[in-house]
Amino acid sequence: MNIVIVGAGAMGSRVGSALYKNDYHVQLIDDWEEHVEAIQQNGLMVINEKGKEQVYIPAHLPKDCAGEVDLLIILTKSTKTESMMKSCLHLISERTQVLTLQNGLGNIEVLTKYVSKEQLFVGVTTYSAKLSGPGMVEAFGSGKTEIMDVTGQQKEEAERIIQIFNHSAIHAIISENIIKSIWNKVAFNSVMNPLCTLTKSSAGVIGTYCHFYEIIDPILDEIIKVAEVEGIELNKKYITETIIAALNPSMSGSHLSSMYQDIQRGQPTEIEYLNGALLKKGELNQIPMPYNRLLYHLIKMLERGNGQP
Ligand code: NAD
Repeated sequence: MNIVIVGAGAMGSRVGSALYKNDYHVQLIDDWEEHVEAIQQNGLMVINEKGKEQVYIPAHLPKDCAGEVDLLIILTKSTKTESMMKSCLHLISERTQVLTLQNGLGNIEVLTKYVSKEQLFVGVTTYSAKLSGPGMVEAFGSGKTEIMDVTGQQKEEAERIIQIFNHSAIHAIISENIIKSIWNKVAFNSVMNPLCTLTKSSAGVIGTYCHFYEIIDPILDEIIKVAEVEGIELNKKYITETIIAALNPSMSGSHLSSMYQDIQRGQPTEIEYLNGALLKKGELNQIPMPYNRLLYHLIKMLERGNGQP
């Protein structure tokens, strides 16, 4: 089985190296030349609880990868889904299965411009990772990955993908309701990513602020109202508990959010696919969203300061 990971950032490198180490034929594709060259020359350094290990996984720029692919796993930032899909079209046939494990709203709509719904699989993962430099990924902790096919007609194929993950020590299950799981993660990220970025603090630090829950409450209320008009019933208690769990340093509590890392690197954040996408849905349905609007604009101002449009 020929597997290609599109977007060898933190999560692409983590997932790709785990599958490769378990004897799957995996290649990484990324457009950060320094990173691709580092992996080609010295292998990918994977740092985890067990120590450091060089994984000699093939890595390419998109144009240099050839051959028909059986499973394409999309792990670019949502900002690059469209451009990376365009540069990978030569790898995709009608047989290729495409799995997105990205965060945010809107990726499915972009991907279905390039592949049929029957080819498309969607997942949500609580695993995390961080690129600490070109050719170097930190892959601490564990998590859970939910996967499902988009049409609901390809369950056996989804099970086969899940087997690959579990065989590679990435805990994966079939999702009962993947769209709800995506929204739960969007709610979590739309609260935590902007707050951690604007305060330049880890989740663990902002969670110790005595008015933390007063702040997150109205942000979540707005998101839950938007989800409701989209036909998705979110449970505020469940999302709040997920946030509380993430404040724990032994989970991701001491990590800086990936949105903050994007700002530090001068790259666009996924704000358009989180609070930005929610605002658009709120506007369509006349739902006032002042808290999410403020977070959105503050992040856009930071991006602007970094030279983004
Ligand atoms: P990432 O930020 O690590 O990488 C994204 C892109 O930026 C890659 O192409 C990478 O090569 C490039 N890049 C990274 N550092 C760079 C630098 N210093 N200079 C130039 N280019 C650089 O992406 P990610 O965090 O793996 O996210 C991929 C998707 O997975 C997103 O949708 C994200 O929301 C989601 N996700 C991430 C995590 C996580 O812990 N990182 C967890 C779950 C889901």
